[in-house]
Amino acid sequence: MNAFYVCRAPNGGTSRTLLRSRLNLADLCFRFVLSPLALVAKQVYTNATKLRRRSPDQTDRRKLLVHESMRAQCELCLVLRDGVAQGCFFAMGSKIEWTSVTWNPITGCSKASPGCKNCYAERMALRLRAMGQAKYRNGFQLTLHPDTLELPLSWKKPSLVFVGSMTDIFHDDVPFDYIEKILNTMRRASWHTFQVLTKRSARLLELRTLISWPDNVWVGVTVEDQQHTFRIDHLRRVDARVRFLSVEPLLGPIDDVDLTGIDWLIVGGESGPGARPVAEEWVIGLRDKCEASNVPFFFKQWGGVNKGATGRKLQGKIYDQRPVTSNQSPNRQFRMYRPLHGVE
Ligand code: SF4
Repeated sequence: MNAFYVCRAPNGGTSRTLLRSRLNLADLCFRFVLSPLALVAKQVYTNATKLRRRSPDQTDRRKLLVHESMRAQCELCLVLRDGVAQGCFFAMGSKIEWTSVTWNPITGCSKASPGCKNCYAERMALRLRAMGQAKYRNGFQLTLHPDTLELPLSWKKPSLVFVGSMTDIFHDDVPFDYIEKILNTMRRASWHTFQVLTKRSARLLELRTLISWPDNVWVGVTVEDQQHTFRIDHLRRVDARVRFLSVEPLLGPIDDVDLTGIDWLIVGGESGPGARPVAEEWVIGLRDKCEASNVPFFFKQWGGVNKGATGRKLQGKIYDQRPVTSNQSPNRQFRMYRPLHGVE
């Protein structure tokens, strides 16, 4: 079975015919034994079958429910095809709480610091290679994909686009002229807001005189512990309209942090196999610093092996604050996926 055809069904539904046409019994058995993706497809198929029986006046609700059941599948779809499923109701979704769609003109990376230990991108890239996905035939080895360089230009709806969820675009092996091409697309796709995040802050700093960051690009660095706060100093020297920090996975207390010149802080615990624990007081400490410095604070998750069970409430509240810039179009799709529950 090619499970990815499931989410190409039009109108948010899952076509029984479509599924059947793709099924091959031997392959189906293989997938159900070896691939957790097959379990997702099975759940989606079951949900869609139940929902199809609902009355016509429940159509909108049905779409939304099917959408919710497809979230994991959509994320895989995005990883595989970068959200190009035109006409697919689910095409623009991302599981990442602080963005709406991912774009990967590069895949693969190498470990840069302790935060990389349980890298999600590595795990996913190896899984996709094992599934025979062409884009990931090199696994987690850094690979350029020039054929996807102009992809965001085809997305007409203004979106928050996370650039490089499966890589680090400031990796040493990414040529500067390729970074320039990515920038050029971001510049031309001015109706989107792009989010660039790196752990290679030294290279970001080194290239700062060569890069003119467009206003629709937010630039951020990852800081996982006190030892890596030097990346914030590098970021501060970058002339970007919005500078943000992703403090994820938070691996220890960060007591000494200067948020001058920083426009947004995202904090999260590690999730997935081997997740390292996060302490509540570390998160509270950062939230309090944001409040004292008037910096929007976004708490992504507690994480753990089952992040759904631990949720994302901090002292009973969901923190979904984010920067607002004048060139930002209201992102209806993002809001639909993640209603804002910011702290008042
Ligand atoms: S920098 Fe990011 S993509 Fe690269 S290994 Fe580390 S966590 Fe993974």
